[in-house]
Amino acid sequence: AKRQGRNRFAYFAPSMHAGLLEKLDLADDLRGAVERHELQVYYQPFVDLSDGAIVGAEALVRWPHPRHGFIPPDRFIPLAEESGLILPLGYTVLEAACRQAAAWPGLKISVNLSPRQVQDPAVVLYVQQTLARSGLAPHLLTLEITESLLQEDAEVAQHRLGELKALGVQLAVDDFGTGYSSLSRLHDFPIDVLKIPKPFVDGVAAGAEQSALARAILDLAAALGLGVVAEGIEHAEQAAELHRLGCEVGQGFHFSKAVPAAELDALLPMRLGA
Ligand code: C2E
Ligand code: CA
Ligand code: CA
Repeated sequence: AKRQGRNRFAYFAPSMHAGLLEKLDLADDLRGAVERHELQVYYQPFVDLSDGAIVGAEALVRWPHPRHGFIPPDRFIPLAEESGLILPLGYTVLEAACRQAAAWPGLKISVNLSPRQVQDPAVVLYVQQTLARSGLAPHLLTLEITESLLQEDAEVAQHRLGELKALGVQLAVDDFGTGYSSLSRLHDFPIDVLKIPKPFVDGVAAGAEQSALARAILDLAAALGLGVVAEGIEHAEQAAELHRLGCEVGQGFHFSKAVPAAELDALLPMRLGA
């Protein structure tokens, strides 16, 4: 409906209308939650697949809604993107994650950046200031970007990612291989890490054909000298097979779901997934 000209009519069936109202309500609630700092940041560990040691964590935002309980990010991140709230929301997460990570000596921290944040020229100064305020060493921060960014807004993305990279942070492509970015263009971006998406990890222990896509990403990463993180590992067999295929770092419910910082503290001395 957004793209319709001003002389067109948009029709809403009653059920769509109800859905729209619900969405507007939620967008309102989200604005309030961001303003009142009610969003929380949870941390899902990254694990060294050779020994189960925790080497880092991904910051994942959580919204405890007063009436609806925890609302999953897949529902409110798109809302936040549409409304522009993703900018304050994203910066809140970045700030919290950097402060927290500065208290975890040596652990890497990954923060998701939405395309909208990368398009914002202010993001560079913001990341720089957040690093300075938190005292976190830049090389310990990884910004996870979406593959669609590389394709849809290639010029801006290339420029901005270059500026971010110059701060000394690492850049990872989330869910690599699920978008349509062309492989030949990967070289044009200052990327450090490819994340193997869960759907490719699902079949990894099931045979040559099911593991083909994960292997393709590992081969590509090796050829380009990039790091790899496999996400959505739910079973020991997947972890073992990925490690055998040369993947060094993994993430998934087999090791731990995303947990509050204090719970991750308690996990730090442990070997996960044994
Ligand atoms: P993502 O960045 O791909 O994050 C991984 C998602 O997979 C997380 O869901 C995580 O809890 C889930 N996951 C991890 N391991 C497993 C597993 O073994 N099995 C299954 N079934 N799921 C697993 P979550 O936290 O619900 O986040 C969903 C998406 O919302 C994220 O996908 C990311 O795109 C977005 N998101 C979350 N936090 C932020 C944020 O702070 N900023 C932005 N821009 N996006 C965020
Ligand atoms: Ca991510
Ligand atoms: Ca992902």
